[in-house]
Amino acid sequence: MTEDLNPFRIAQAQFDASAERLGLDDSMRAFLRVPQREFHVTLPVRMDDGVYRVFSGYRVQYNSARGPTKGGLRWHPDETIDTVRALAAWMTWKTAVVDLPLGGGKGGITCNPKELSTGEQERLARAYIRALGRQLGVTRDVPAPDVYTNPQIMAWMMDEYETIVGESHPGVITGKPLNLFGSLGREDATARGGIYCVREAVAHLKMDPNVCTYAVQGFGNAGQYAAILQRELLGDSKLVAVSDSRGGIHCAAGLDPVELVKHKRESGRVEGFPGSESITNAELLELDVDILVPSALESVITTGNAAGIKARLICELANGPTTPGADRILFDRGITVLPDLLANAGGVTVSYFEQVQNTYGYYWSVDRVYTRLDRRMTAAFEAVWEMAQVEKVDLRTAAYLVAVSRVAEAVRARGWL
Ligand code: NAD
Repeated sequence: MTEDLNPFRIAQAQFDASAERLGLDDSMRAFLRVPQREFHVTLPVRMDDGVYRVFSGYRVQYNSARGPTKGGLRWHPDETIDTVRALAAWMTWKTAVVDLPLGGGKGGITCNPKELSTGEQERLARAYIRALGRQLGVTRDVPAPDVYTNPQIMAWMMDEYETIVGESHPGVITGKPLNLFGSLGREDATARGGIYCVREAVAHLKMDPNVCTYAVQGFGNAGQYAAILQRELLGDSKLVAVSDSRGGIHCAAGLDPVELVKHKRESGRVEGFPGSESITNAELLELDVDILVPSALESVITTGNAAGIKARLICELANGPTTPGADRILFDRGITVLPDLLANAGGVTVSYFEQVQNTYGYYWSVDRVYTRLDRRMTAAFEAVWEMAQVEKVDLRTAAYLVAVSRVAEAVRARGWL
């Protein structure tokens, strides 16, 4: 039987399994397995040649029991409402795992930003806010960057929102540029939080980080900083392979992450980096490395390749890279997966810090951001690790148990059910 790769059905299957373990009643299960609210918008945008193109946009506010919804905006040609629903569900569980006073949401536009000029991107960003701005705000729902969106797009969106409401509202969106109310430490926060989790995991697994080899799939915001920070925070560990949407590279002697970032910036791809040989994305995933860091898209580790994965530890900076079928195979094979709900929660944690700073109009030093991020990530890691030991389950199931019980408690306390 072929594996179901629909991300929302995967998110629901993961939720169902945890609801069963927690013994949630039927009404709570029915409420938490679907979004509370979702918006579908149609966005006409004038292209540079004067012709209008019409884009589909989405925003899903999955659950607000623990606070205003929060989650990124993805611009991708394959974006669908089910991807957004899945990502919004995962945001709900993620904010609960790291114990932020936030719910979960997500948004997206089906488009290929690589084919859009800067002006077209700006008009698309502003059109999205004109269509959905009324649903957003620090007390409602706060977007942030995700795949193929960036601080500049966040800046245009914040400006459009403020123009509409006629007031300053920097906290309406996070991941903004530093010169426009962004937070120090936001840019590398997702990767940094993931590397903090790796640091804790290798200690528990009694692995020596100084001799660990790494492979990173996806070389954007999350992947690039993971490559740089693994060296900064984890001793002499060695990056041996990376990839992006155009292909991958391998070098057993080790790749210099800083030079590689420069090469990617200049050439638009990782391939062609001096001293490396080309490999495919599929080959990268099955390389004989100690630590694998999927940092691109969903469903890349499936029942089709899980048996061939050789890494001892997988750090999911991407959302949803491992399917439930693959999870079972990896668990049986003794491979530890640091699940997305925990491993990439550094991004939303520093986004939350950004919101706090915007609210107070008082900005923190980068050391303060790092210290608070470390404290929160380490506490979340310990809670999930302990749950996994007590319940004898994998870390994803443990993260779901921690998160779903927190959200269900909030729903009950509000008297919604
Ligand atoms: P990005 O747009 O900065 O980078 C994405 C990278 O993935 C690019 O290098 C792209 O070339 C590569 N890629 C795309 N398709 C690929 C494929 N089929 N095979 C290999 N590589 C491919 O995006 P990002 O912000 O780094 O996000 C990456 C992942 O991390 C996503 O799953 C996202 O949801 C997750 N994430 C990001 C953040 C954040 O703060 N940026 C926070 C939490 C989770």
